[in-house]
Amino acid sequence: MSATRAGAKWHQQLHWRIAIAMALGVISGVVGGEALGETVGWIGTLFIKLLKMIIVPLVVTSIVCGVASVGAGAGLGRLFGKTLGYYFLTSACACIVGLLMVNLIKPGVDANLVAVETEEMPELEVVDSPVDLILDIVPENVVDSAANTDMLAIIFFSIVFGVSLSTLGSEHRNRLMGVFEGGFEAMMRLTGGIIHFVAPVGVFALIAKLVGSTGLESFRSLGLYALMLTAGLTIHLFLTLPLILRLIGGINPVTHFRNMLQPIVMAFSTSSSGATLPVTLRAVKKQVGVSDRVSSFVLPMGATVNMDGTALYECAGVMFIAQVMGVELGFEQQLLVVFTALLASIGAAAVPSAGLVVIFIVLEAINLTGPQVELIVGAMLAVDRPLDMYRTVVNVFSDSCGAAIVAKSEGEQGIDEAVRPTIS
Ligand code: ASP
Repeated sequence: MSATRAGAKWHQQLHWRIAIAMALGVISGVVGGEALGETVGWIGTLFIKLLKMIIVPLVVTSIVCGVASVGAGAGLGRLFGKTLGYYFLTSACACIVGLLMVNLIKPGVDANLVAVETEEMPELEVVDSPVDLILDIVPENVVDSAANTDMLAIIFFSIVFGVSLSTLGSEHRNRLMGVFEGGFEAMMRLTGGIIHFVAPVGVFALIAKLVGSTGLESFRSLGLYALMLTAGLTIHLFLTLPLILRLIGGINPVTHFRNMLQPIVMAFSTSSSGATLPVTLRAVKKQVGVSDRVSSFVLPMGATVNMDGTALYECAGVMFIAQVMGVELGFEQQLLVVFTALLASIGAAAVPSAGLVVIFIVLEAINLTGPQVELIVGAMLAVDRPLDMYRTVVNVFSDSCGAAIVAKSEGEQGIDEAVRPTIS
């Protein structure tokens, strides 16, 4: 594994190789159809499994090191406050953009979705209420949580374990820190190996399978709804977040985008901020230039709780369903939609289609339920994959902006000072 030189030709850089793999995947999917998708599908599955394999140990070692190096007390409290403040600010902005778009474009008014073929819902866990969400965060059995990749519970345990570790006497603390730091470095090395050797072919297979099985039709139907969401996500990605980056962090958004190209293509092709997390961590540390202390704290938590793209989607999606049903939502109900969308985006797992599943939390909150609603959500599933790909990019990019802003506010130097070479 070697870092690509700054002056390397464009096609030698990993993010371009992945982008080319994506384009080839689309072409192969169109030409080869379902048969090709079935043939190469296992490679995509293997790639996702390899990424998922490293998530739990990476997150645990990363947070324990991050928290323990911050230490208990004022330092940790300050970092925590800034991080949560940023998550709340950007997710709320995303919700507002979603509401504005759906109220302006009104894609659901007069839409006839009866003819659209519905698809089966994936079975994912849904958080029932805000109280359940809080109860879910504290694990009953941490080994069980790790075995089920229950990220909020793992994050909670890692934070309190890190705090406890930081209060130990120097002999025990240094010994344990050595183990966690070594484990963390090994996981980062493993991530690099997977990205370097498997990512391009894995991405090719994922895209070929998607296009091969659903055809380009999945990108075409439910056009106005998809267009409205795409426009909202684009505003948040290219206007709101860059403005926040510039105004609050004093960071050049173009440099940040260029340093984050690798996680962006990875998020787009995997539709999972969880699976992208190892790549995000590497890029934010090595290319954006954020310290271990801040990135290890902000990013794993962000991948799970800070989902701007998902929050925007929940708001706009629920309003769309209300429009299709001919239900007029007043200001107070729209406020309730924003509030529950924020909670739903926190509760959504960092995996493909999670956003579509937790939409039922928001629908319940405003009493928009019943078989017709389920039918419309099923139809939305038909175009969900490409939208999911895009909202995952927004989710991941918001996390990296947060890490850069918090690092800058902590007095760190050299954040996004230059476009740094792609590490492969
Ligand atoms: N796929 C998204 C993510 O992993 C979640 C969603 O479905 O909105 O970030």
